Amino acid sequence: MNELFETFLQNHDLSGIRSIEKSDLHNHLGKGGNVRYISSKLNLKIDLPPATFESLIHMDRWFNENIRKRCPFIKRFEAAFVQASDDNIGVLAASFGLDEQMTIGGMDVNAFIYEMKSFNQQIAPDTIFLPELAFERRCDVDKELSRLDEVLSYNWFKSIDINGVENQQPIKNFKKIYRKAKEYGLRLKAHVGEFGTADDVMEAVEELELDEVHHGVASAKSEFIMNWLSKHKIQLNVCPSSNVMLRVVENYSTHPIRKLYDHGIPVTINTDDLLIFNQSVSEEYLNLFKYGVMNAKELNHIREIGLRQIDFYEP
Ligand SMILES: [Zn+2]
Repeated sequence: MNELFETFLQNHDLSGIRSIEKSDLHNHLGKGGNVRYISSKLNLKIDLPPATFESLIHMDRWFNENIRKRCPFIKRFEAAFVQASDDNIGVLAASFGLDEQMTIGGMDVNAFIYEMKSFNQQIAPDTIFLPELAFERRCDVDKELSRLDEVLSYNWFKSIDINGVENQQPIKNFKKIYRKAKEYGLRLKAHVGEFGTADDVMEAVEELELDEVHHGVASAKSEFIMNWLSKHKIQLNVCPSSNVMLRVVENYSTHPIRKLYDHGIPVTINTDDLLIFNQSVSEEYLNLFKYGVMNAKELNHIREIGLRQIDFYEP
């Protein structure tokens, strides 16, 4: 398997890369499908996104106009499982918020869980699905906390996350939520160090006792924080195309995953929002190889780090 993956990378053989098992650990499930599937199923013409976005707000506006308004949320979830199956994603840790499933979808938690389990079994039976509960950075923390016990009592969610614009409220406001999630045995993650700083990453890991960070690429600006993350084995779930399109980094060639990996930080390669950034996990690997950021052996090592995710969970 190892040599095959490396050979496929060296030959730029995308279908070969697709055939090898990989993980996707930073995936917003409602944006996790691919445009081709949605277009053909709903007979929609979806324009390509711009090459780069000005901001997360610009990106959200594009997504609302071009996809969210035109494609029912349940179809987008279905598309994400189709994508996991097509790209041989053996471990899929994917997130969604309570409002997405209940307010917009009009479903209770039980119905939603049933629906997701059916998608998993029927569309992507070989994919281990690790559902992640996501909170918006701007959310009302006390309101979320008040319904957390009920949601977690289903013992279905495996991890939690905070996403959205990083400076909307201090990360320490989420401490109560993270304490409770820890009591339930969830793996703790948050979006941080995407548009924020290296210090923000360290603060979030310390305050919330994070096991993993979504993005965290800003850490590459601090030797001290990179060494600290490495020492504490804090995994960074990196999404190169998202970083390029949101202008977090200048281009693929100079992507900081190189530096983070060289400092011994466990990194993984992921899609973030495939419906927007249009690059599958396989394409993300191939891009990093083609642009000379990582060699085939290193990329295979990263693939193995991703698949080890399953060791963190009880069967
Ligand atoms: Zn994300």
